[in-house]
Amino acid sequence: MNGSIKIIEISGIPIKLHFTLIIMIALIAWTIGANLEIFAELLGVDVVILPGFQSYALGTIMASGLFFSVFVHEMAHSIVAQKMGIKVKEISLWILGGIANMEEIPKDPDSEIKMSVVGPLASLGIGIVSFAIGLVSPPLLSLVLIYLGVLNLILAGFNLIPAFPMDGGRILRAFFAKREDYVSATQKAAAIGKGFAIIMAVIGIFYNIFLVIIAIFIFLGAGQEAFRTSQEAEGERIKKLLMNVKAEKVMSKPVETVSPEMTVAEFLEDAMDIQHTGFPVVENGKVIGIVTMEDTKKLNEGQDLEKKEIREIMEKDVIYFGPGDTLDEILEKMEEKDVGRFPIINEREELVGIITRSDVMRSFKRMTDITSLKQRIKKGDEISLKSD
Ligand code: ZN
Repeated sequence: MNGSIKIIEISGIPIKLHFTLIIMIALIAWTIGANLEIFAELLGVDVVILPGFQSYALGTIMASGLFFSVFVHEMAHSIVAQKMGIKVKEISLWILGGIANMEEIPKDPDSEIKMSVVGPLASLGIGIVSFAIGLVSPPLLSLVLIYLGVLNLILAGFNLIPAFPMDGGRILRAFFAKREDYVSATQKAAAIGKGFAIIMAVIGIFYNIFLVIIAIFIFLGAGQEAFRTSQEAEGERIKKLLMNVKAEKVMSKPVETVSPEMTVAEFLEDAMDIQHTGFPVVENGKVIGIVTMEDTKKLNEGQDLEKKEIREIMEKDVIYFGPGDTLDEILEKMEEKDVGRFPIINEREELVGIITRSDVMRSFKRMTDITSLKQRIKKGDEISLKSD
């Protein structure tokens, strides 16, 4: 998360604090410190507290205890995730509690339930133990422990609210995912979460403005989760379709090439004629580089285009693919390297074609059309063939 600083690393997991958490701790410490007498009375602890420094020190201890409880909650998620073989990238603590940032979220509903439920269970455990010890401790310690006990019980309850990004939202999604696909399960859970956020905000307007702020975070979190999941599913769908297509089926050939001795002025002339934006540079039958219109834009003003050779401005670090490579890996590489075209060379290292992003997209579009047409035929829908 942006705005986080790493404080320690435990079992390979960096633990980070988000600046909003620090605001939260200070706010809680101050609130507790200023109202300690009332808190003690509310919690039923009979204790005499000196106003001023002692009460704010206690407030800080209690707020830090809360932060530590949240951390244990996230650690519980992370340990179960690690046991499932999922890498935990970091644990971030912020205004709404904590986030354990996992490399992936288990798609299997039972695993997601298991991983989600241990967090609230950990909070419930700390809550009960802390409360129980608090009951038999001396007054000041008793106040701290009973307070933390109650907060942990609230934490467990809060995290079970069936809305993303809370654990309850994930449990709800997993519950739906047992019967339907992951994306629609997420959308359903996100919609319910948004509903909760709206109800919470309305209640907050009348009772506590803080609830409204939390509701906004919940509302945004629900939307984000739904968006992320559908993007991921779309990515997987594209990959699956492209996996079946070989480069030789969609590559452009023959390829317009240029020689490294060609001047930039000549190149621009040619490019204008052919209307391509990128060309392999070939010398003695081998591709030694690729030159694009972008490369010519990098030239400084006042340079003599009649003297400058293509060899000097071309991209020498060329990535190749073979005719038998599939479009999914080609597209992945295009995105990774932010490159729009790759030369296709055969086993004798001869240039046999070039594949561009638009070749891949055109092929994808064709396949999507065919797939949806097939599905409609399967469903027995009536297809009217119109000529346009
Ligand atoms: Zn949790």
